[in-house]
Amino acid sequence: MTAETLTIALSKGRIFDETLPLLAAAGIEPVENPEESRKLIIGTNLPNVRLVIVRASDVPTYVQYGAADFGIAGKDVLIEHGGDGLYQPLDLQIAKCRMMVAVRKGFDYAAASQPGNRLRVATKYPDIAAEHFAGKGVHVDIIKLYGSMELAPLVGLSDAIVDLVSTGGTLKANNLEAVEHIVDISSRLVVNKAALKVKHALIQPIINAFAEAAGQS
Ligand code: ATP
Ligand code: MG
Repeated sequence: MTAETLTIALSKGRIFDETLPLLAAAGIEPVENPEESRKLIIGTNLPNVRLVIVRASDVPTYVQYGAADFGIAGKDVLIEHGGDGLYQPLDLQIAKCRMMVAVRKGFDYAAASQPGNRLRVATKYPDIAAEHFAGKGVHVDIIKLYGSMELAPLVGLSDAIVDLVSTGGTLKANNLEAVEHIVDISSRLVVNKAALKVKHALIQPIINAFAEAAGQS
């Protein structure tokens, strides 16, 4: 890619949907909807700007290696990734939710999570979970899952899960309850540090437009 072109990494679903108004504020309109198209590279109304559609947890990696100049990723993903090589100038206040500990309704979490006890915790976020329980002095066996964490306590795979919660509807539907709040989550702009230098004239106006649209300028 030359210095005159921009590649933006986004994931499908809520981040894409909530990013559309921000892109529009920067004068960028995708020419296709990634939910309908199978294309992974999507053009925009601007001939020098394209979107690449990647898994939410892969956004920091594409940006870190410069395969995308910038992207939008959840704080959950950024904490697990570590943020190496990424400049994080803006909290966009989109895709907001909370990282929580949840258990089966009726499970005595207060007793089970006393310091010195051992808990089995299923999660997609092993680093966040390990740090949280280390801070409480609770020993944990972390069971790494890639989705549908809610199932784990129901079938005896784990005592607890660490997962993202927004309305709590999925927990409720599965007879689970949130018992501890770990951290508030929202999505951030992540920019490749070298790209910001080389393509400053292209990238900075977009950052400014995003900041204004997100109510932060
Ligand atoms: P997949 O669902 O394909 O396994 P994913 O779970 O990584 O992938 P999403 O569910 O679209 O993808 O989540 C993308 C990002 O949106 C997450 O990294 C998180 O920051 C945020 N997010 C996840 N769940 C919620 C939620 N319930 N409410 C608001 N934001 C959320
Ligand atoms: Mg998901």
